[in-house]
Amino acid sequence: VYPLIQMLFIESESISKKSLRSNTEKFEFQAEVSRLMDIIINSLYSNKDIFLRELISNASDALDKIRFLALTDKEVLGEGDTAKLEIQIKLDKAKKILSIRDRGIGMTKEDLIKNLGTIAKSGTSAFVEKMQSSGDLNLIGQFGVGFYSTYLVADYIEADGKFAVSEDTWNEPLGRGTEIRLHLRDEAGEYLEESKLKDLVKRYSEFINFPIHLWASKE
Ligand code: ADP
Ligand code: MG
Repeated sequence: VYPLIQMLFIESESISKKSLRSNTEKFEFQAEVSRLMDIIINSLYSNKDIFLRELISNASDALDKIRFLALTDKEVLGEGDTAKLEIQIKLDKAKKILSIRDRGIGMTKEDLIKNLGTIAKSGTSAFVEKMQSSGDLNLIGQFGVGFYSTYLVADYIEADGKFAVSEDTWNEPLGRGTEIRLHLRDEAGEYLEESKLKDLVKRYSEFINFPIHLWASKE
Protein backbone atom coordinates (compact mmCIF):
# COMPACT_ATOMS: atom_id res chain seq x y z
CA VAL A 1 0.00 0.00 0.00
CA TYR A 2 1.44 3.30 -1.04
CA PRO A 3 0.95 6.66 0.57
CA LEU A 4 -1.77 8.83 -0.84
CA ILE A 5 -1.01 11.63 -3.20
CA GLN A 6 -0.72 14.72 -1.09
CA MET A 7 0.56 18.17 -1.39
CA LEU A 8 1.17 20.92 1.01
CA PHE A 9 0.88 24.62 0.92
CA ILE A 10 3.12 27.14 2.47
CA GLU A 11 1.42 30.35 1.87
CA SER A 12 0.41 33.71 3.10
CA GLU A 13 -3.16 34.83 3.58
CA SER A 14 -3.07 36.56 0.24
CA ILE A 15 -2.06 33.41 -1.57
CA SER A 16 -4.49 31.28 0.33
CA LYS A 17 -7.36 33.44 -0.77
CA LYS A 18 -6.30 32.98 -4.35
CA SER A 19 -5.38 29.38 -4.46
CA LEU A 20 -6.73 27.49 -1.52
CA ARG A 21 -8.64 24.57 -2.91
CA SER A 22 -12.05 23.56 -1.75
CA ASN A 23 -10.76 20.28 -0.34
CA THR A 24 -8.18 21.96 1.86
CA GLU A 25 -7.99 21.33 5.56
CA LYS A 26 -6.29 23.83 7.80
CA PHE A 27 -4.21 22.96 10.82
CA GLU A 28 -2.56 24.86 13.62
CA PHE A 29 1.12 24.54 14.18
CA GLN A 30 2.12 23.20 17.56
CA ALA A 31 3.36 26.07 19.71
CA GLU A 32 6.80 24.49 19.72
CA VAL A 33 6.85 24.54 15.91
CA SER A 34 6.00 28.21 15.77
CA ARG A 35 8.79 28.94 18.22
CA LEU A 36 11.20 26.87 16.22
CA MET A 37 10.23 28.63 13.00
CA ASP A 38 10.86 32.01 14.57
CA ILE A 39 14.31 30.93 15.62
CA ILE A 40 15.12 29.42 12.27
CA ILE A 41 13.97 32.50 10.45
CA ASN A 42 15.88 34.87 12.71
CA SER A 43 19.12 32.95 12.93
CA LEU A 44 19.37 31.69 9.37
CA TYR A 45 18.06 34.65 7.50
CA SER A 46 21.42 35.55 6.02
CA ASN A 47 21.89 31.95 4.90
CA LYS A 48 18.61 31.40 3.19
CA ASP A 49 20.19 29.23 0.51
CA ILE A 50 20.25 26.23 2.80
CA PHE A 51 16.54 25.63 2.36
CA LEU A 52 17.41 24.02 -0.96
CA ARG A 53 20.03 21.81 0.61
CA GLU A 54 17.42 20.55 3.09
CA LEU A 55 14.79 19.91 0.44
CA ILE A 56 17.24 18.09 -1.81
CA SER A 57 18.38 16.01 1.12
CA ASN A 58 14.78 15.08 2.02
CA ALA A 59 14.03 14.12 -1.58
CA SER A 60 17.16 12.00 -1.67
CA ASP A 61 16.19 10.27 1.61
CA ALA A 62 12.74 9.51 0.18
CA LEU A 63 14.31 7.99 -2.95
CA ASP A 64 16.67 5.93 -0.82
CA LYS A 65 13.71 4.62 1.14
CA ILE A 66 11.77 3.48 -1.92
CA ARG A 67 14.86 1.85 -3.34
CA PHE A 68 15.39 0.04 -0.07
CA LEU A 69 11.79 -1.22 -0.05
CA ALA A 70 12.26 -2.52 -3.56
CA LEU A 71 14.95 -4.89 -2.33
CA THR A 72 12.39 -6.98 -0.49
CA ASP A 73 9.19 -6.21 -2.39
CA LYS A 74 9.16 -6.93 -6.11
CA GLU A 75 6.04 -4.86 -6.65
CA VAL A 76 7.92 -1.76 -5.62
CA LEU A 77 9.71 -0.24 -8.58
CA GLY A 78 8.45 -3.19 -10.66
CA GLU A 79 8.33 -3.32 -14.45
CA GLY A 80 5.22 -1.18 -14.75
CA ASP A 81 6.81 1.59 -12.75
CA THR A 82 8.35 4.10 -15.08
CA ALA A 83 8.95 6.80 -12.49
CA LYS A 84 12.58 7.72 -12.51
CA LEU A 85 14.53 7.91 -9.30
CA GLU A 86 15.47 11.51 -9.71
CA ILE A 87 14.86 14.90 -8.20
CA GLN A 88 13.07 17.51 -10.25
CA ILE A 89 13.23 21.18 -9.51
CA LYS A 90 10.86 23.47 -11.35
CA LEU A 91 10.67 27.20 -11.50
CA ASP A 92 7.46 28.95 -12.38
CA LYS A 93 8.44 32.57 -12.70
CA ALA A 94 4.97 33.84 -13.48
CA LYS A 95 3.44 32.23 -10.42
CA LYS A 96 6.59 32.66 -8.31
CA ILE A 97 6.52 29.01 -7.34
CA LEU A 98 9.58 26.86 -6.85
CA SER A 99 8.75 23.14 -6.78
CA ILE A 100 10.88 20.25 -5.68
CA ARG A 101 9.54 16.89 -6.66
CA ASP A 102 10.67 13.35 -6.08
CA ARG A 103 9.16 9.95 -6.82
CA GLY A 104 10.30 8.51 -3.54
CA ILE A 105 8.36 7.02 -0.69
CA GLY A 106 5.95 9.94 -0.35
CA MET A 107 3.89 11.00 2.63
CA THR A 108 0.36 10.15 3.61
CA LYS A 109 -1.91 12.86 4.86
CA GLU A 110 -1.16 11.73 8.41
CA ASP A 111 2.57 11.82 7.70
CA LEU A 112 2.26 15.33 6.35
CA ILE A 113 0.38 16.61 9.34
CA LYS A 114 2.74 14.89 11.74
CA ASN A 115 5.93 15.82 9.91
CA LEU A 116 4.88 19.40 9.39
CA GLY A 117 2.80 20.51 12.27
CA THR A 118 4.33 18.72 15.21
CA ILE A 119 7.76 18.05 16.45
CA ALA A 120 7.76 14.49 17.58
CA LYS A 121 11.46 14.33 18.06
CA SER A 122 12.72 14.96 21.53
CA GLY A 123 15.76 16.96 20.45
CA THR A 124 13.86 20.10 19.57
CA SER A 125 14.56 22.09 22.69
CA ALA A 126 18.18 21.05 22.51
CA PHE A 127 18.24 22.27 18.94
CA VAL A 128 16.73 25.59 19.87
CA GLU A 129 19.31 26.12 22.60
CA LYS A 130 22.27 25.06 20.52
CA MET A 131 21.15 27.06 17.54
CA GLN A 132 20.81 30.20 19.61
CA SER A 133 24.20 29.85 21.24
CA SER A 134 26.28 28.57 18.33
CA GLY A 135 24.48 29.75 15.21
CA ASP A 136 25.82 26.60 13.51
CA LEU A 137 23.96 26.15 10.25
CA ASN A 138 24.58 22.43 10.06
CA LEU A 139 22.54 21.82 13.18
CA ILE A 140 19.36 22.19 11.26
CA GLY A 141 20.03 19.02 9.29
CA GLN A 142 21.34 17.10 12.28
CA PHE A 143 18.30 17.75 14.42
CA GLY A 144 15.74 16.71 11.85
CA VAL A 145 14.13 20.08 11.44
CA GLY A 146 15.39 20.83 7.95
CA PHE A 147 12.00 21.18 6.43
CA TYR A 148 11.30 24.35 8.33
CA SER A 149 14.11 26.17 6.59
CA THR A 150 11.73 26.49 3.63
CA TYR A 151 10.07 29.26 5.55
CA LEU A 152 13.15 31.34 4.95
CA VAL A 153 12.10 31.87 1.38
CA ALA A 154 8.46 30.93 1.22
CA ASP A 155 5.45 32.85 2.35
CA TYR A 156 4.00 31.70 5.58
CA ILE A 157 1.02 32.61 7.63
CA GLU A 158 2.55 34.84 10.19
CA ALA A 159 -0.68 35.94 11.71
CA ASP A 160 -2.17 32.69 12.77
CA GLY A 161 0.54 30.14 12.19
CA LYS A 162 -1.62 27.75 10.27
CA PHE A 163 -0.85 25.47 7.44
CA ALA A 164 -3.06 23.66 5.01
CA VAL A 165 -3.16 20.21 3.49
CA SER A 166 -5.19 19.22 0.47
CA GLU A 167 -5.39 16.34 -1.93
CA ASP A 168 -3.35 16.86 -5.07
CA THR A 169 -5.69 17.65 -7.91
CA TRP A 170 -3.26 19.31 -10.28
CA ASN A 171 -3.51 18.48 -13.99
CA GLU A 172 -0.48 16.34 -13.83
CA PRO A 173 -0.89 13.92 -10.93
CA LEU A 174 2.31 13.06 -9.22
CA GLY A 175 1.68 9.40 -8.48
CA ARG A 176 4.01 8.11 -5.84
CA GLY A 177 6.22 10.72 -4.25
CA THR A 178 6.25 14.22 -2.92
CA GLU A 179 6.12 17.65 -4.40
CA ILE A 180 6.90 20.63 -2.24
CA ARG A 181 5.67 23.87 -3.77
CA LEU A 182 7.13 26.97 -2.30
CA HIS A 183 5.20 30.15 -2.89
CA LEU A 184 8.18 32.45 -2.73
CA ARG A 185 8.12 35.65 -0.80
CA ASP A 186 8.77 38.81 -2.75
CA GLU A 187 12.18 39.19 -1.08
CA ALA A 188 13.13 35.70 -2.26
CA GLY A 189 12.89 36.58 -5.93
CA GLU A 190 16.50 35.56 -6.51
CA TYR A 191 15.38 31.92 -6.29
CA LEU A 192 13.42 32.37 -9.47
CA GLU A 193 16.64 32.95 -11.39
CA GLU A 194 17.95 29.93 -13.22
CA SER A 195 21.58 30.84 -12.72
CA LYS A 196 21.16 31.14 -8.97
CA LEU A 197 19.37 27.78 -8.80
CA LYS A 198 21.97 26.12 -10.98
CA ASP A 199 24.73 27.27 -8.67
CA LEU A 200 22.90 26.02 -5.61
CA VAL A 201 22.05 22.67 -7.14
CA LYS A 202 25.68 22.24 -8.07
CA ARG A 203 26.78 23.08 -4.56
CA TYR A 204 24.30 20.83 -2.79
CA SER A 205 24.33 17.85 -5.13
CA GLU A 206 27.82 16.75 -4.21
CA PHE A 207 26.75 13.93 -1.90
CA ILE A 208 23.44 13.16 -3.59
CA ASN A 209 23.27 9.87 -5.46
CA PHE A 210 20.35 10.74 -7.72
CA PRO A 211 20.20 12.95 -10.79
CA ILE A 212 18.78 16.42 -10.23
CA HIS A 213 16.97 18.14 -13.09
CA LEU A 214 16.17 21.79 -13.20
CA TRP A 215 13.41 23.29 -15.33
CA ALA A 216 12.41 26.88 -15.72
CA SER A 217 9.23 28.22 -17.25
CA LYS A 218 9.54 30.73 -20.06
CA GLU A 219 8.64 34.07 -18.58
P1 ADP B 1 14.74 14.97 8.77
O1 ADP B 1 14.93 14.87 7.29
O2 ADP B 1 16.04 15.19 9.46
O3 ADP B 1 13.95 13.83 9.36
P2 ADP B 1 13.09 17.22 8.05
O4 ADP B 1 12.51 18.36 8.81
O5 ADP B 1 13.99 17.60 6.93
O6 ADP B 1 13.86 16.30 9.09
O7 ADP B 1 11.92 16.32 7.51
C1 ADP B 1 10.97 15.80 8.42
C2 ADP B 1 10.33 14.52 7.91
O8 ADP B 1 9.42 14.79 6.85
C3 ADP B 1 11.30 13.49 7.32
O9 ADP B 1 11.88 12.68 8.33
C4 ADP B 1 10.39 12.67 6.41
O10 ADP B 1 9.70 11.68 7.14
C5 ADP B 1 9.39 13.69 5.94
N1 ADP B 1 9.71 14.20 4.61
C6 ADP B 1 10.24 15.40 4.31
N2 ADP B 1 10.42 15.53 2.98
C7 ADP B 1 10.00 14.36 2.41
C8 ADP B 1 9.92 13.86 1.06
N3 ADP B 1 10.34 14.58 0.01
N4 ADP B 1 9.39 12.62 0.87
C9 ADP B 1 8.97 11.89 1.93
N5 ADP B 1 9.01 12.29 3.21
C10 ADP B 1 9.52 13.52 3.46
MG1 MG C 1 15.73 16.51 6.23
